[in-house]
Amino acid sequence: GGDRELLLNAIRDVADHPRAGVVFKDITPLLADPHAFSVLTDALAAAVTRQGATAVAGLEARGFILAAPAALRAGVGFVPVRKAGKLPGETMGERYELEYGTAEVELHTDAVGPGDRVLVIDDVLATGGTAEASVRLIRRTGAEVVGVTVLLELGFLGGRERLLSALDGTPLESL
Ligand code: IMP
Repeated sequence: GGDRELLLNAIRDVADHPRAGVVFKDITPLLADPHAFSVLTDALAAAVTRQGATAVAGLEARGFILAAPAALRAGVGFVPVRKAGKLPGETMGERYELEYGTAEVELHTDAVGPGDRVLVIDDVLATGGTAEASVRLIRRTGAEVVGVTVLLELGFLGGRERLLSALDGTPLESL
């Protein structure tokens, strides 16, 4: 619909970032446009409510920018999933494979737990590795992951298939 076009038109392609041959989807024009940002926040908050989420987990770093206002608008708490070494309290971590090497996402051990219904939010789903590791991490606390919602999905990288097969049907929505 109109909102989909509005959001798509507010995302910029940047060639050869972060390295040659990659076309980076840059959401900074969307963030700078208060109408587009508000439309996005409404759509994300609607997903929070629709899934009956009791908490929103945002993935560092751009996921924070989208998830925090959506959580606030939906009336639930915000939980950060961070890169290793950033969170100050007691953490748990989950490693995942990159094209070259590995990465790790971390969560405070007391951030969510049994009885919580968590919606994971990020800006872009690429290979799905970050989202997959984040869902595994949240599930280890005993919380239920009720879905992964992203602004944009790069369909040619297989992230959707990876999430669905690795995560046993966790619903994935891209706006
Ligand atoms: P994945 O783990 O391969 O799915 O990569 C997803 C992570 O990398 C997300 O946290 C995104 O923020 C980031 N990412 C990958 N490609 C892009 C892009 O084109 N634009 C913005 N972020 C991206």
